[in-house]
Amino acid sequence: MSEGLINFLTAWQNTMYILAPSAVALGIIILVVFKLLLGSKKELKSKYDFVSKFEYNFLFATHASIALGIFFICNTYKQETVLLSFIWFFIRIFISLCIGVLYGYIAQLMLKYYYPGVQAKKLHKYRYTPRTNPNNGNEMKLLSEEEEDVYLDEGMQAEEDVFSVDYDVWIDTETGDTKIEKYEGRLSALKCDRCGFQTLKLEKEEVIKDASTEQEGELIKHYKCSYCKRIKRKNVKLSMGKTESDYILTEQSQFVNLSNSKKVILIKVAIHSNEGEIKNYEFQNLNEAQKFLREFSFKKSIE
Ligand SMILES: [Zn+2]
Repeated sequence: MSEGLINFLTAWQNTMYILAPSAVALGIIILVVFKLLLGSKKELKSKYDFVSKFEYNFLFATHASIALGIFFICNTYKQETVLLSFIWFFIRIFISLCIGVLYGYIAQLMLKYYYPGVQAKKLHKYRYTPRTNPNNGNEMKLLSEEEEDVYLDEGMQAEEDVFSVDYDVWIDTETGDTKIEKYEGRLSALKCDRCGFQTLKLEKEEVIKDASTEQEGELIKHYKCSYCKRIKRKNVKLSMGKTESDYILTEQSQFVNLSNSKKVILIKVAIHSNEGEIKNYEFQNLNEAQKFLREFSFKKSIE
């Protein structure tokens, strides 16, 4: 092997020894920054918002950096063999790439399937840990869905009725101080451009032209705001060879009778579509659950 190649391989080796720990350190820094930012949030509600919005991205960046670190360190392996024949240099790059990608892939699977459960538990804790009244330090109580309506204005109630936004009302039973927190609801509704509430929902879809294998179709979506009654239409193109269909719950699938000799404290609803999609929801009472089932469609459900 020529001297030039040997010099190159030595320089490569030295660079990898610098890059590998740097990438891992970067991953750790990203994680530490996340923890610091989270720790700087005083309110549990702010922690909730921060974790639900950003935790995934930070974890993803951390694992991507570690995967890169693994790729770099693998590129230093068996240097003496590589010095014998340059072909091994490329084989080593290829194998290192495979190992790095494998780590990234496993990390991504964990983030997709295991991590959501962990995050849900954390978010549940942030959301339901009793709040303290900032004025006197008293512990506040969370009102149930029926009790909270008095404290919400009409627009907020309209948002709750279409399940687009979920409001939690905390009350200091001694002083009557309240704290209202806004959470994303279980179904999606658009923000109305007239009243500003998240109450604009799809009323019906009208197919003007069916999509064929040669031609795009066209569909009109009719929206109506359940608060200010604004009506809005939107034309949507249907891509070729696709028809719009959705799984809709029928009246028969709504349950009517539950023995009322015992008080129901929680209702769990699991909706299975014919395509194998499963959505799970929890409700405090039957009324809520029934109202939800009337609003439900898979298209509206939030991932
Ligand atoms: Zn409106």
